[in-house]
Amino acid sequence: MNDAIPFDASQTFVGGCWRAGASGQLLPLANPSDGSELTRIARGGAADIDAAVAAARAALAGPWGSLTAAERGRVLLKMSARVLEQADLLARLEALDVGKPLKQARADAVALARYLEFYGGAADKVMGETIPFANGYVALTLREPHGVTAHIVPWNYPMQIIGRSVGAALAMGNACVLKPAEEACLTALAFARIAGECGLPAGALNVVPGLGEEAGAALSSHPGINHISFTGSVAVGSLIQAAAAGNAVPVTLELGGKSPQVVFADADLDAALPFLVNAGIQNAGQTCSAASRILVERPVFDEVVRRMAERYRALKIGPALDDLDVGPVISARQREVVMGYLEVVKASGLAVAAAAPMPPSLPRGGYYVPPTLVAEVQPDHRIAQEEIFGPVQAVIPFEGEAQALAIANGTPFGLVAGVWTRDGGRALRMARRLHAGQVFVNNYGAGGGVELPFGGVKHSGHGREKGFEALYGFSSLKTVAIKHD
Ligand code: NAD
Repeated sequence: MNDAIPFDASQTFVGGCWRAGASGQLLPLANPSDGSELTRIARGGAADIDAAVAAARAALAGPWGSLTAAERGRVLLKMSARVLEQADLLARLEALDVGKPLKQARADAVALARYLEFYGGAADKVMGETIPFANGYVALTLREPHGVTAHIVPWNYPMQIIGRSVGAALAMGNACVLKPAEEACLTALAFARIAGECGLPAGALNVVPGLGEEAGAALSSHPGINHISFTGSVAVGSLIQAAAAGNAVPVTLELGGKSPQVVFADADLDAALPFLVNAGIQNAGQTCSAASRILVERPVFDEVVRRMAERYRALKIGPALDDLDVGPVISARQREVVMGYLEVVKASGLAVAAAAPMPPSLPRGGYYVPPTLVAEVQPDHRIAQEEIFGPVQAVIPFEGEAQALAIANGTPFGLVAGVWTRDGGRALRMARRLHAGQVFVNNYGAGGGVELPFGGVKHSGHGREKGFEALYGFSSLKTVAIKHD
């Protein structure tokens, strides 16, 4: 066992018990900071998913299903407090597993606690309605859990995505089967331990690690599930939607993005600058809502590029536990993808405005890429159209509001957008016309915004998580019409 991981990470969590995967096979989990093997995880498969779905079904028929909404909320609040108590441990596990700098991992642990706090508090505040209907009737609506919910999670923000997805599903009384990503699942396992310690009834949360095409595919196509929440790539999202169609179950897809921040010449550049850069390099750019396109109005274009470039040159890169600005990307494969895009930049003669220095002391086996700022990018260039999922930002000039909108909306994605301007009317016009599930004016990301519904349009997906909206998504509405005379 690795000393940094204070539990056996090779098991599944099903029906409140830790057990080896049915196949007995294990998968190596790499440390992206140096390429070493951190530990081994279970290679869960169809038999483990069957057992997890059965355990979840039994929980709904048993103690979990009989808790009141307030009681469910109290368990989540207890889990929230426990996550905070263990924030240092969780942050360390996430940093080792994902490669993100420790302070970013700690912020994710705090966000997980906040999701559980928000949804714990909300559990008993989801109301139905009474409906004015025909004489002699009382008509009302009830919000009921779907039943067994499947949660397929990527590797970039495991704690945050588990918090928003599993937290909301449990608050509504669903029983969850969680399939974490094969590249990073230590905090999913730690979360299951916390759930057990805090008295979450057996089977309400089940965790089956494994490969996407094995455990993930078995879960998404399982006839015993009633809802799927998927966060990940567009390609896999399409497969998930097809699998959901096979069983006629609802699905929430949180997919990728090519999110723009639009900077008008009248913007407060001092306020904008940190957001422009951080939203591109945070988590080494492996963020679905990364601002990978920065659109800048011509009169301030050179100034913005110059000031962003200064920040890039000052970025410090290193192993996650050194807690610098940027860590490695998740895997050798992801590193190849990002380096491939940097080759495309070079081959098309684009101007690299700045690349962060790569210190010679970086561990040789680590998956590091140089954060790179590319200026004067044409809106239809590949690096302005495709999700790179690495610390590479394209800066695109524009002239006037209409062109800004056309460029901002001119990709297949529509997850998040930012607008920087001192003109209130323009801010509102842009907010209305941008194709995005969230628009931020004179900020970006609203510090995480647990309360704010989140999700995409176009290829960024559909359905909403976070905020109260997620509770509606994780429940189905029943209408009851009572004839009384
Ligand atoms: P991915 O789609 O490869 O994997 C995501 C999850 O799906 C993993 O758990 C994986 O094991 C599973 N999976 C893979 N193949 C499967 C299959 N055939 N059937 C069922 N499950 C399968 O994505 P990734 O590379 O891990 O994550 C990066 C992508 O996720 C990016 O495109 C990013 O934008 C997106 N993302 C979106 C959000 C959001 O909220 N919109 C958040 C984070 C990441």
